[in-house]
Amino acid sequence: MEFTLDEMREHLAALEARISEACKKANRSRESVKLVWVSKFHPAEAVENAIALGAHDFGENRVQEAELKFSVRRRAVDGSPVMCHVIGPVQSNKLKKAAIVADCIHSIASMEAVEKLEKVCAALPYDGNVADGKILDILFQVNAGEEETKSGLDVANAEKFLINLEACAGACDNDGRSENFPHLRFRGLMTIGKNTGNAEDSRDCFVFLRNLQQKFLSKGGVFANFDQLSMGMTGDLEVAIEEGSTMIRVGTALFGERDYSK
Ligand SMILES: *Cc1c(COP(=O)(O)O)cnc(C)c1O
Repeated sequence: MEFTLDEMREHLAALEARISEACKKANRSRESVKLVWVSKFHPAEAVENAIALGAHDFGENRVQEAELKFSVRRRAVDGSPVMCHVIGPVQSNKLKKAAIVADCIHSIASMEAVEKLEKVCAALPYDGNVADGKILDILFQVNAGEEETKSGLDVANAEKFLINLEACAGACDNDGRSENFPHLRFRGLMTIGKNTGNAEDSRDCFVFLRNLQQKFLSKGGVFANFDQLSMGMTGDLEVAIEEGSTMIRVGTALFGERDYSK
């Protein structure tokens, strides 16, 4: 059963209390943490309710589901366009569709995917403007918990990967726009914490991610926009905020349990 609008409003209030408390504890402003509403496995009506409650950003795992809900550009209550984040692993043959529907992809973990996305975005119209292609925000997923079931760059290879990316990007302007990937904006890193039921178990993953992100942000160049840390979910968002998360991806605490049988 999906939540009613009133139920969702209550869940949002409880979640916002958690977020505010964590921000206070970490001496951070509420505005420094973006809430991405993870609507996967929930119907379009749940998205409508979320928008009515002020949601701006949605996360979807699967490209096809993202297309169903976000192919037509939605507007938030303040009139700004709703942002679609693809947060699940994307197969090579789905990258084009992902680039079309998404404003940001959080789950990139190979040079092949980067190269393919650049080609695809160069040829895409963006909000009706075909002239210069679409500029897409991407984050690299790191398997910081070193769990076999999770995708992402291995901890041991993540730094090498980013160094190689910098080399492949070529010359860069002050805004981080590179010669070889002019349609991609490298925004930062994403990870999924350890799903042990104890949020503290994720802290080391989040610290690792922050250290890596800070190291590359400080290099500038193609990493001029590398200021985002996508980490923290329903179970571990407080720890993620304490460790510097700029985007928490929350599903269950907002929409309730997912029905995977559908
Ligand atoms: C499903 C999912 C989430 C949301 O998880 P909840 O525990 O329901 O908040 C966040 N990130 C990713 C990558 C997911 O797949």
